[in-house]
Amino acid sequence: MLNNSSEIFQLSGDVSNKIAAGEVVERPVNVVKELVENAVDASAEKITVEIAEGGLNLIKVMDDGKGIFPEDIEKTIDRFATSKIRDINDVYELSSFGFRGEALAAISSVCDFSLVSKRKGYDCLELKSSFGGQPVVKPAAGIEGTIVTVKNLFGNLPARRKFLKSSSAEQREIVKFIRHFMLTNYHLSLRLIVDEKEFFLFPKNESMLDRARKIFKEKKIVHLTNKYENLKIEAVISTPEVQKFRRDSIVLSVNGRVIKDNMLTQAVIQAYKRLIPEGKFPLAAIRLDISPSYMDVNVHPAKLFVKFLNSGEIFSFVYDSILEKLESLTPHGYDSDNYTNLSDTDENRIKSFQYSYNSEEQVSVSDFLTAADTSVSSDESDNIEEVYGYDFRIIGQLFNTVIICEFDDFFYLIDQHIAHERILYEKYKSESSVDTASVVLSEPLVMNLGEEELEILNNNKHVLCDFGFDFESFGGETVKFNKLPSEILNKDVVSEIKTILEETSRLSRKGLKDSSLVVMSCKSAIKAGEKLSRYEMSHLVNELLKTKNPFTCPHGRPIIVKQSKEELFKNFHR
Ligand code: ADP
Ligand code: MG
Repeated sequence: MLNNSSEIFQLSGDVSNKIAAGEVVERPVNVVKELVENAVDASAEKITVEIAEGGLNLIKVMDDGKGIFPEDIEKTIDRFATSKIRDINDVYELSSFGFRGEALAAISSVCDFSLVSKRKGYDCLELKSSFGGQPVVKPAAGIEGTIVTVKNLFGNLPARRKFLKSSSAEQREIVKFIRHFMLTNYHLSLRLIVDEKEFFLFPKNESMLDRARKIFKEKKIVHLTNKYENLKIEAVISTPEVQKFRRDSIVLSVNGRVIKDNMLTQAVIQAYKRLIPEGKFPLAAIRLDISPSYMDVNVHPAKLFVKFLNSGEIFSFVYDSILEKLESLTPHGYDSDNYTNLSDTDENRIKSFQYSYNSEEQVSVSDFLTAADTSVSSDESDNIEEVYGYDFRIIGQLFNTVIICEFDDFFYLIDQHIAHERILYEKYKSESSVDTASVVLSEPLVMNLGEEELEILNNNKHVLCDFGFDFESFGGETVKFNKLPSEILNKDVVSEIKTILEETSRLSRKGLKDSSLVVMSCKSAIKAGEKLSRYEMSHLVNELLKTKNPFTCPHGRPIIVKQSKEELFKNFHR
């Protein structure tokens, strides 16, 4: 009722629920996600999801969880009613998916809703409500657990229904969510029924690798785990032969919650950087376990994103864990785990290998294999030709700096840093920019710079932005970096930024026209002293051969030292 002196009214619970429903349940897949997560929060181990017409006609989720006390059943659809937290600090100690107490309130206000639940030792009840109307509770028949049925979703909101895609597209989203959820919650069993037919069934307690084989439908995948302080990762990743066109082949989860996160996606992509071409992506299912106090899950109504307290550390942890695994692979995708049962003679060979190099350092089994299998013409090296198209054979890496490779009647010593620099330089030049991947920092990096550094920064703003920097002045000599190239995130960021600035100024003083391209190529290139896997070496040599000038670097230093078999044999008076 409008009058002249007052126009602000409190919205009724029903209206505010419908507004809030827009944030929590935009599409059928959001309903499925909330209901499945509720089932898991109730300690369910077996879940059945049934959908019809992409979820628009029916979404039914049955679980064998602990059920709901009869006294609580009406509270389930009250807004901000939850059994999972008591006060705001609990959000930072949370081990459940839910905590906002909003989902069932939101869902029940936009559908024909029914919830049947039985707690052990208590009566089974059914709660029904239609589009947010008065709920009705009646006794029902049922076994321990909960069944939520959602019919005619958005039937009262024709405008919302108009925004939905076709029912087959909505179905695809639901199937995709369930697959992703089951990849990281591989201990659970789930049956999906679509339009009255069984779509898939995942058994209980599978290993992550077995689960991923089924979901990815790919055999060339390997499993890894790693731990660092309060961070834990378990993942299944593809070997570099597998190359996907879309980055949603990378599935991320934190404490079992499937999330989207640009920083974590970049950590995965960067780990494969030297192995698969740009624009192609690996398959990866990443399960991170982090103490809840190190992140904030309450930054998004549908909880699709989280905020990490220390994103730099998490980036490096994920990047390093994946890289380490990839480095242990050989071009056949063999896992160093496959070699743990070394025979006696193998062990002796390792000893003599160490001895002959007279090294203080321990040589790992994978080092040994890399060195050993190059002495024989194994089918692995034949495989390289197949993969890369050039007829060279990688012999190995010298001093973690020089790649040795054989090609016709010659052998080549290739400086890995300079070779990579050439590859990047030509790439950047052909794209006439150094457009590289960057990460938006959840907490901007604030840095104090000297006068000269500030000047270089401002004079080269556009190049640095192309390279993935985004920064603004923060008063005086302080600069705030909002975005950084992902390449430098796992290094000492402050000193990386300083060297980039120094080198940019040095080269532009020398009058080098495309100085910034040279600096960026140099900064992003593999360093001398970095150990490379056989995959990486093959890839690098192959890319080098494709460049216009594989023999000299943009600074003018030689990249390749070439010698013929003849010259070599002369040394031995052959
Ligand atoms: P939240 O999950 O954030 O607590 P919801 O609206 O999703 O909020 O659910 C409200 C409450 O209803 C939950 O806190 C839980 O106590 C109860 N509940 C919902 N679904 C189930 C289920 N499948 N089994 C047992 N309890 C449930
Ligand atoms: Mg919930």
